Amino acid sequence: AAKNQGRNRYHYFTESMQQQAHYRMRLIQDLRQAVESSAFELNYQPIVELSSGKITKAEALIRWYHPQRGQVPPAQFIPIAEDTGLIFPIGNWVFQQAVKQSADWRERLGVEIQISVNKSPVQFRDEGVRFQEWLQTLQQLPGGGICIEITEGLLLDTNIAVSEKLLSYRDAGVQVSLDDFGTGYSSLAYLKKFDIDYLKIDQSFTKNIDVDASNQTLCEAIIVMAHKLGMKVIAEGVETQQQAEILKRIHCDYAQGYFYSRPVSSSEFEQRFLDAKRPSTD
Ligand code: C2E
Ligand code: MG
Ligand code: MG
Ligand code: MG
Repeated sequence: AAKNQGRNRYHYFTESMQQQAHYRMRLIQDLRQAVESSAFELNYQPIVELSSGKITKAEALIRWYHPQRGQVPPAQFIPIAEDTGLIFPIGNWVFQQAVKQSADWRERLGVEIQISVNKSPVQFRDEGVRFQEWLQTLQQLPGGGICIEITEGLLLDTNIAVSEKLLSYRDAGVQVSLDDFGTGYSSLAYLKKFDIDYLKIDQSFTKNIDVDASNQTLCEAIIVMAHKLGMKVIAEGVETQQQAEILKRIHCDYAQGYFYSRPVSSSEFEQRFLDAKRPSTD
C-alpha cells in the first residue's frame, strides 16, 4: 500500500508540475500580447511627508487586467517578464508613462509630485542602449520629478556599471530609493558607497510597529543610521493611524500605505489628492 501511495503521490506531483508549466506558458503568451496591445495601467499610491501631512510623492505600480483571469498581481507576472525579457518593453512603458504623468500634473495643475518607478535588477543590468532613451525621455521633465526604486541585491553586484549608472541618473535629476530595505542582505557598506536618497523600510517592519517593541527598535535604528548617512526614510505598508504616529515620533520622514490610500488610478489620484492643491485661478 505504501508503495502504491508513493506512486500515486509521484503521479499527482508530476501532473501538477505539468499544470504549472502549462499555466506559465499561457501566461507568457498572454503577457506578450499584453505588451503588444499595451494592456497595462499605472496606479499611483500617495507618499506622505510626515512632518507636514502633505502628499509630495507617489509610487507608480503597474496593473494588468487580463481579459479572462482578471487582475494578475505584479508579483506573479514581473518575475515572468524578467525571465523572458519582456521586462524591457514593460519597464520602458512604465517609465514613459510616469514621466508624462509627472509633467502633466506639473503643467496642468501646477503641483510637483515626484513619481517613483520600480526598476527591476534585470532591467537595470541589461537594458543596454535603452538607458540612453531613458535619459532622453527625462528631458521632458526638467528639474527632476522622477525617482527610481531599486533593491539591495543590485548593489551587492560589484559591477562598476551599477554605480556609474546611478551617477548618470543623478546627473539627469533622478533620485534613488532603496526598496524593501531590511529584507535582503542589508549590508551597511554599500549604503555609504552608493548615492542613495531614500531608504524604504519594508512593510514587514512597519506592520507590527504598534504591537512589537523590537520592530519599533529596528525602525528607529534604521532611521537614525539613514539620517546620519544623509538619507531620508520612507516607511512602507502603514495601515493604521497608530503606526503613522509612532513613525512620526521616531522621526521617519515619509510614509506610504493603506492608512493613507491604496494605489489608485491617475484620475482618482488627481481628484482625491491634487485638486485641493491646485492654485486658484481667480
Ligand atoms: P513594492 O515596490 O515594494 O510596492 C509596494 C507593494 O505594497 C505594492 O504591491 C502595494 O500595493 C503594496 N502596499 C502598499 N501599501 C500597503 C499596505 O498598507 N499594506 C499592504 N499589505 N500592502 C501595501 P503591488 O502593487 O502588488 O506590487 C508588488 C511588487 O511588484 C512591488 O513591490 C514591486 O516590487 C513590483 N512592481 C509593481 N509595479 C512594478 C513595475 O512597474 N515595475 C517593476 N519592475 N516592478 C513592479
Ligand atoms: Mg517599490
Ligand atoms: Mg517596497
Ligand atoms: Mg516589495
